[in-house]
Amino acid sequence: MESTYSPIEVFNFCPHCGSRGLTADTEKSLTCNSCGFRYFINMSASVAVIIRNEKDEVLFTVRKHDPAAGMLDLPGGFVDLGETAEQAVVREVFEELNLEIISMKYAATFTNKYLYSGILYQTLDLVFECEVKSFQHLKVADDVSGYVFRNPLTVLPEEIGLDSVRDIVKNIAVLL
Ligand SMILES: [Zn+2]
Repeated sequence: MESTYSPIEVFNFCPHCGSRGLTADTEKSLTCNSCGFRYFINMSASVAVIIRNEKDEVLFTVRKHDPAAGMLDLPGGFVDLGETAEQAVVREVFEELNLEIISMKYAATFTNKYLYSGILYQTLDLVFECEVKSFQHLKVADDVSGYVFRNPLTVLPEEIGLDSVRDIVKNIAVLL
């Protein structure tokens, strides 16, 4: 059951006083019975980017690491602390693909659950449709396995690694 991996289940010791008195007081918060420390579990923000070529195919990356290694993904990643979603889009596309974005348009959000290191993170994925200057210098980073341009309408759900990306691709004709 996925709740086994939620921070509510996994975090037992208070990070402030170290006692074992950390308990869930709501479904999204933990309180320490010893010192009163309270912690809220929030969604993490991430970005997913739709980039099309001149044939209207979408640029997918191939995941190198788990979760879902070897499966299709969209460029993007977690928004850093203190960063805007727009800055995260520019940074991630440059880091992952060595591409320069020249325009972006916000499209929609999707939720995702991301199991990493024994914790189930819940994310809010912000989708942007972007244009790049050119594909001439396209080159994948070390933490990406590869890339492929595909007609999104022919990509099968089982080829895609993450739930939110599956939802984005399923809705791409309506959304974008
Ligand atoms: Zn405490």
